[in-house]
Amino acid sequence: MGFTATIIGRPNVGKSTLFNRIIGKRVSIVDDKPGVTRDRIYGQVEWRDKKFTLVDTGGIEPGNEDIIFSKVLHQVELALESTDVIVFLVDGKEGLTPIDEDVAQILRKSKKPVILVVNKVDNFETQSETAFEYYKLGFGDPILISAAHGVNIGDLLDRIVGYI
Ligand code: GDP
Ligand code: MG
Repeated sequence: MGFTATIIGRPNVGKSTLFNRIIGKRVSIVDDKPGVTRDRIYGQVEWRDKKFTLVDTGGIEPGNEDIIFSKVLHQVELALESTDVIVFLVDGKEGLTPIDEDVAQILRKSKKPVILVVNKVDNFETQSETAFEYYKLGFGDPILISAAHGVNIGDLLDRIVGYI
């Protein structure tokens, strides 16, 4: 399958929106209700003469925080076995949640490269300071994007292919 990047994050942060934005087609189902992405969806990406496989993850039905966390964790474990880079997506509108912090702790222990991506930064003027709270996760400079509006997606793709 070649070089693989997997999008990880709790339900509703915009994983499927980002996946579709990069793939350029509506392959993944985007919905306000968490859990609509069927397990794992694969797409082929070509960027700056490099090719990789992008994976969207999901399959997490609504439930209490413990259930959601254990299911996100399952996706993280699957990804860590099979991917070259983790794209860790968080929601810049909602801010960090305990699930994000727990996922971050597990990802920090892995040896796989992690790109921290803050989504839903639709307005850089009012949301520019949102970047600061994400440094404490320990993954260096976060990339601020808006998957819905297609902002800074090129920066993310540059970071991904930088690992190839
Ligand atoms: P997933 O559960 O992580 O796959 O999230 P989805 O891609 O299904 O998106 C969840 C919700 O967030 C949907 O209502 C999207 O339209 C919305 N969303 C995704 N990206 C953005 C964004 O950049 N800005 C805003 N404001 N909403 C977004
Ligand atoms: Mg999804």
